[in-house]
Amino acid sequence: MFNQTNQKRGVQQEALGYAVYAAGEHITNLEAIKPVIERISQKHRAIGVIPEQYPVVGETLLQAVKDVLGDTASDEIIEAWGKVYGYIADAFIDLEKGLYEETKSQPGGWEGYRSFYIDKKVKESDTVTSFYLKAKDQKAIASYKAGQYLTLKAAIPGEKYTHIRHYSLSESPGKDYYRISVKRENAHDDAPAGIVSNYLHKQVQTGDTLEFAAPAGDFVLDHTELPVVLISGGIGITPLLSMLNTLAEKLPKRQVTFIHATTNSKTHAFKEHLAQLKNKNKHVTSFVCYSSPNEKDRVGHDFDKEGYVDLDLLQSIVPSKEAIFYFCGSLPFMEAIHKALQRWGVPREHIHYEVFSPVAILGEE
Ligand SMILES: Cc1cc2nc3c(=O)[nH]c(=O)nc-3n(C[C@H](O)[C@H](O)[C@H](O)COP(=O)(O)OP(=O)(O)OC[C@H]3O[C@@H](n4cnc5c(N)ncnc54)[C@H](O)[C@@H]3O)c2cc1C
Repeated sequence: MFNQTNQKRGVQQEALGYAVYAAGEHITNLEAIKPVIERISQKHRAIGVIPEQYPVVGETLLQAVKDVLGDTASDEIIEAWGKVYGYIADAFIDLEKGLYEETKSQPGGWEGYRSFYIDKKVKESDTVTSFYLKAKDQKAIASYKAGQYLTLKAAIPGEKYTHIRHYSLSESPGKDYYRISVKRENAHDDAPAGIVSNYLHKQVQTGDTLEFAAPAGDFVLDHTELPVVLISGGIGITPLLSMLNTLAEKLPKRQVTFIHATTNSKTHAFKEHLAQLKNKNKHVTSFVCYSSPNEKDRVGHDFDKEGYVDLDLLQSIVPSKEAIFYFCGSLPFMEAIHKALQRWGVPREHIHYEVFSPVAILGEE
């Protein structure tokens, strides 16, 4: 059911271990890890985890604790971890029940997976392609909040299992289609090419059908009137673009600073769209960093600064730290932004991020 590449790389196991350990640490005050529980519950709802599956995971998890601790794992310790697991499992089951009901009962909502056909495939850069999805049954589709994602179950010819992947919705809600924008993950060093992204880019064509679970996710816009700062690295642009489009359409007077970091003009997705949006809306400012501009890329035309996004840059372009910050990108990018915002003194409740991997939260300074 889970992403098998994440299993092979050990990151799924790490995320599970971390969640259970955090539950043990905060067992008398689960409120402290509520954001982690909520984020994981959203993913569980998206992939269809059911209460009956918790005992199976619990049993194997306790076996793993025994294997790792060896002789140190007294019966008392194993029993205590069993209780912690039961406690956290109940918290998940309870939250997920509400999410399943909410998803099913909303107009256009659905349970499990639903068929969508590719209405349009649009190249956004050398590595990113958008897929416009329309429901095959031609019935209404559930709305969503900017920042949420769809979950794809891909049955790829020649693959032993189906593959599950999440893709952020890159358009504002309220259309009769969904749009996802996918980066093609090329083979690099010793790592093989990404399975699903290459399948989507190379094999899936207009008119083909794919299966998706209904929108999910807790990375969504706040309801304050404070200025918004959206910071993206590479393909992390997708949920932030949905937020930007939504703000421009629905709250055009809210001040938005949109900062994007990418390699150069070849990888710069949605460049024209962003330029147009900025010209049309005086409350939107944008700033683009290229880490490795090519010969034709011109400062002030294609991009604003060569290099990375850091605290100095943020302080020079964001009018005030009294703002709500959203960011998404690779893990190193996000760790750098998170540290910069903490050093600047931005309060924790004004910092929101989405991680494109099983990691639920970033470390504190
Ligand atoms: C909430 C969320 C939203 C997301 N939104 C988007 C989005 O909008 N757009 C987008 O493009 N992606 C998004 N993603 C990421 C997406 O879900 C996929 O992870 C991504 O498309 C890669 O999938 P893949 O099957 O192509 O690659 P995979 O086959 O899963 O491989 C992933 C990476 O691991 C490497 N790898 C594979 N096997 C190994 C191994 N054995 N050892 C070491 N490395 C290995 C590959 O080279 C590749 O770089 C999102 C993820 C999440 C969790």
